[in-house]
Amino acid sequence: MKPFVAADGSAHSVSDACNVQEATTRKNLHATLRVLAGRDLRSLYDDPVPLDMVKITDWHPDTCDCVLQYIWRKDHDEQVRQHHPHRALNTCHHHQKQEDPAGKHAAVLAENQNKNALVQRAAESLGVELHEIEWSFDNQRRLHLSHPAHGIIDQARLKPN
Ligand SMILES: [Zn+2]
Repeated sequence: MKPFVAADGSAHSVSDACNVQEATTRKNLHATLRVLAGRDLRSLYDDPVPLDMVKITDWHPDTCDCVLQYIWRKDHDEQVRQHHPHRALNTCHHHQKQEDPAGKHAAVLAENQNKNALVQRAAESLGVELHEIEWSFDNQRRLHLSHPAHGIIDQARLKPN
């Protein structure tokens, strides 16, 4: 790995293939450092992480208005890649009570995956396309599923035994 010295004088490692003389590359490295905001990646990864391999993406779940940022590594295969919660750019009113960032990410992710799984099972059991399943949350944050032709879908019948 090679060193990359940021504008504030801090030194970071980049992979050998990274051309730190290139303006766009430098811009991207600075952007990554800005978003990391001093976070130490050694808490996430055992080995030193080349800065050019760090990716940070925003997730806008379709189940609420939270916007969550995740850190992941470009050099990790998609099958084993882990998305580490970084911070919340926006917190919806449903998840405001979750102050712990990891807990918030877990709650939003679980809600979203549960909705996706139930929509999938509903579509399979009715033999319709995924997009035909209508879903919504009530004010108790309970999920409701329906289909224009089949009406309200009984979720108890969708759950695996
Ligand atoms: Zn939310």
